Amino acid sequence: MEAGKNKKCEFCGSLNPASAVKCSLCGRSIRDKRYNLIRYIIAGSLFFALIFIIYIMQQVDYTETGSKFMPGLELISSAGYSYVSGDMIVEGKVKNVSSGILKDVQVVVLWYDKYGNKIARISAPIYLKSILSFQISPFRAVKPFVPQMERYDVSFTTSGGEIIYTRDMREIEKLKQQ
Ligand SMILES: [Zn+2]
Repeated sequence: MEAGKNKKCEFCGSLNPASAVKCSLCGRSIRDKRYNLIRYIIAGSLFFALIFIIYIMQQVDYTETGSKFMPGLELISSAGYSYVSGDMIVEGKVKNVSSGILKDVQVVVLWYDKYGNKIARISAPIYLKSILSFQISPFRAVKPFVPQMERYDVSFTTSGGEIIYTRDMREIEKLKQQ
């Protein structure tokens, strides 16, 4: 028998035929260690594959627009004021509270008169092109001033116009600052 084709028992060191399953001397399974190694390699590979998938999911462009119970954004502050140039400016801060990156978020400001009629609408990209999870971005929307402007609504959409669910935190933030 050629020595090269023999399998060495990893427990007692005796040589066994290549086809042997058990060691002829100590009786222990010759394949044990190799099988365990394969099992560790498979388990390890699956573990790293899972970590990799979780990592990729964190990085992927996040088009999730949230829901009533899991909003994508929080409106932290907003202020509307008319400027000497004759512009009506609405600006504030918005926070990404989703678990992913939000890209190309648009702020939409609707103006109403005192009767509740919609009189103006402006949409503009927010300051940050991409907001990371829990990052805050300023926003600003400018519209020519008209005296009928009585109150405004702020909402946010994707670049495709899909509404991003936004939790209004303005009153809560004001109370915190007092
Ligand atoms: Zn042995």
